[in-house]
Amino acid sequence: MSAFDSLQDALEQRKQDHLYRSRRTLNAAQQPETLIDDKPMLAFCSNDYLGLANDPRVIERFQQAASIYGVGSGASHLVNGHSAEHHALEEELAAFTGRDRALLFSTGYMANLGCIGALVDKPDAVFEDKLNHASLLDGGLSSGARFQRYLHNDVESLDKRLSKDRSKDRSRRRLVVTDGVFSMDGDCAPMTELVECCAKHDAWLMVDDAHGLGCLGETGLGLTEGFDQSQVQVLMGTLGKGFGTSGAFVAGSETLIETLIQFARPYIYTTAIPPAVAAATRASLQIVQQEPERREHLQQLIQHFRSEAQAMGLTLMDSPTPIQPILIGSEAETLAWSQALEAQGILVTAIRPPTVPKGTARLRITFSASHTQSQLERLLTALQQIVQQRGLPEAVEL
Ligand SMILES: *Cc1c(COP(=O)(O)O)cnc(C)c1O
Repeated sequence: MSAFDSLQDALEQRKQDHLYRSRRTLNAAQQPETLIDDKPMLAFCSNDYLGLANDPRVIERFQQAASIYGVGSGASHLVNGHSAEHHALEEELAAFTGRDRALLFSTGYMANLGCIGALVDKPDAVFEDKLNHASLLDGGLSSGARFQRYLHNDVESLDKRLSKDRSKDRSRRRLVVTDGVFSMDGDCAPMTELVECCAKHDAWLMVDDAHGLGCLGETGLGLTEGFDQSQVQVLMGTLGKGFGTSGAFVAGSETLIETLIQFARPYIYTTAIPPAVAAATRASLQIVQQEPERREHLQQLIQHFRSEAQAMGLTLMDSPTPIQPILIGSEAETLAWSQALEAQGILVTAIRPPTVPKGTARLRITFSASHTQSQLERLLTALQQIVQQRGLPEAVEL
């Protein structure tokens, strides 16, 4: 008997709980019609919201830059891995977001850990929406600051906590952290109210807009469109979703960015993303700005899906975004729906606890600007058939 035999028990338990996760292998590019485990599949689960992961212009820039800079960046940004492509992308992201500066991170997870960790410490307090992305929660927990979660999208609940912090155990700095678009529900943070509340309590507001950037807003600026850096002091975005490449960035004031360069450990102690990825992202940033028709098409798909799915009696969430969950409830039933879709060649992931609260398992459908109207019709027809075969899911209380 070894002390690590208990690992095997934990794995067994996870299987019994219908929570075991396994991977599939993609045999083609990230696009709606793809090959998964060598089978043709129509996928509605990618985060490539604008269809840029496989755009010929983005690929071409990637190839050109690789032929100049090679593949690996070779070092961290502070040693000698910071190339001219990284630098230019940072300047273009700063201009796009209307901030003083932007800083590239290797992943969104690291940007969140690094940013929260550099901004707050023991004498400080961090306030997070209950449904924030795991990386934001981990960043808050590991920062050492007093960590509090407020009720989802409930600014009154936040206001109470901030008031208490100021009247009783006053912290040095207060940081409020929220997803822009919530990744499992698809709903949006109440930006105007959050901005007001943070200003009132002298707190900084950090918005992680991984799912809003590129997809929402007139110019693709997402949830922070119309809010400058005096209102949203920390804007975080990822490049592996709407931008179709890889990596992440934080944008804000000169002071913010210099603080991150000096103190954010997940920035300092890691290899820079390949310069060619930065170059490819410059191409996708240009497309995001110059082709608003991608956002318009995406909105048409979303509206059409919502009205048809609601007419079938399915329970959707309050989401104007490409994330359109169908609430099912039980884990086993959610898996059955996902398998029934898969039998028809349609891939939609079943999202279960602990990713979402118990009893709110769901199918998480995501749309991309590269989906066609007829692909959407295929999904709707398949859903209609499952409703006829299995009946509507039992009503779920959120
Ligand atoms: C995907 C995601 C991240 C992590 O970004 P990666 O670049 O994939 O590490 C962070 N926050 C939110 C809200 C996300 O959806």
